[in-house]
Amino acid sequence: MQSLKPLQGHLSRFIKAACLLGLLVSTVSAETKNSHLICRPELSPAHRTELAEKLRAITGWSQLDFDEEGVLRMGGEMEAHGGSRAARELLAAAAEGRALMLLEDASHRADVVFARVNPGRWTKDGAQKPPVYVILIDFADFQHVIGDEAARAAFNEGWAVLHEIAHVVHDSADAEEGANEPGACETLINRMRRECGLAERAEYFFDLFPGQERTAFTTRLVRLAFDLQTPQLKKKRYWLMWDANLVGGIEASKQIAAR
Ligand SMILES: [Zn+2]
Repeated sequence: MQSLKPLQGHLSRFIKAACLLGLLVSTVSAETKNSHLICRPELSPAHRTELAEKLRAITGWSQLDFDEEGVLRMGGEMEAHGGSRAARELLAAAAEGRALMLLEDASHRADVVFARVNPGRWTKDGAQKPPVYVILIDFADFQHVIGDEAARAAFNEGWAVLHEIAHVVHDSADAEEGANEPGACETLINRMRRECGLAERAEYFFDLFPGQERTAFTTRLVRLAFDLQTPQLKKKRYWLMWDANLVGGIEASKQIAAR
């Protein structure tokens, strides 16, 4: 795809985008281990495969996969081939922490813009059980994303899930509304993108595509910028674009919900 033209004039409004990520370290053991990330039974085999593929590419753990119980199995630091060390450290920290994270298919849900994490609640004996979080993934939203290949590689289901995990593990925040930066959570994810040689997300918020503010089009195109640092120390900008009427996130109530 061609790069989109640079934005002209003011952005009419900023809109909170999908949630994406953050971390720092803990020790990473040498052997394969189970994480505290578990698929809900309803998460289809196709989506599990899709998600595992994306996470393998990001982490460099070629053995990473969901087992028959839907538990994410990872590798040790020694078993990594390329990929992002920070991403491996985040998953290792998630494995060593107390919190349980359930992966749920939220495809076609209007209140989920790409992905989001919600605190869960045990129905019985909650006090004796570890904290639980539900990571909602709207796989359908990612199908609506078009744009530069360099930006698409830096924005998919794998990146989104890592972002939500970082919220749980590090309690890191997203950018404040209107802020012109990626926010603490995405800053960690950008470190992972850098380690993978990918473009970094320039801002947390997406904005309306120029000219869309006043139209009565049935589509509401929005866009999100990514920057790739070139060897010449220049930044090259790439864009993602999608129809917010299909993905969601335009209405204020949904902006608040997107974390
Ligand atoms: Zn977030």
